[in-house]
Amino acid sequence: MQIISNAFGSYQTNCYILKVNDKDFIIDPGDGAYEWVLRNVTNPQAILITHGHFDHIFDVGILKREFKLPVYMHKDDVFMVAHQSDIYGYELFETDFAVDEGKINVSGVDFRFNHFAGHTPGCCMVEFRDVMFSGDFLFKGSIGRWDFEFSDANDMISSIFKCERISGDYKIYPGHGPSTTLKAERGNFLSYVSYIKSSIH
Ligand SMILES: [Zn+2]
Ligand SMILES: [Zn+2]
Repeated sequence: MQIISNAFGSYQTNCYILKVNDKDFIIDPGDGAYEWVLRNVTNPQAILITHGHFDHIFDVGILKREFKLPVYMHKDDVFMVAHQSDIYGYELFETDFAVDEGKINVSGVDFRFNHFAGHTPGCCMVEFRDVMFSGDFLFKGSIGRWDFEFSDANDMISSIFKCERISGDYKIYPGHGPSTTLKAERGNFLSYVSYIKSSIH
């Protein structure tokens, strides 16, 4: 197993390529990721999306078209693809698998979509073995914003408590910034909850 990453676009959104048994899985290809992915994949299988914000899906359309790849995303964020395309002008695409929370098998490899609504309705951490691609739910030393259109502060609070209940440790590969571990981030969770509560009262 190997994970490579690079940041793209004005928000420096991390695109990841997960390599398992000579199969490549692309996570969150943002604006400009296409060329980099092209150079770094040999056997691409699928595009997995942590959530529907434009900076995480910008190059999905072109990659899907060029490589004929299926797209996986939580069902509650699928609407965002069409909703933002007029504003940001990326290539529209169909979500082949609008998934719910749970395990999925993609080309013989097991993943799990863990739903953490709040930043967006269908925001997920995509789990593979002891790795979570945490999107904009959890970063090193912070969490995703809960004040965007379609964000929900109360859902974010519930999601933080849900995340706290995950047992064991995971490597966290966020949508922006450096990687971390769940163990390292766990200590901040209660202060995030108080901060969100104070921001909505
Ligand atoms: Zn986001
Ligand atoms: Zn983002």
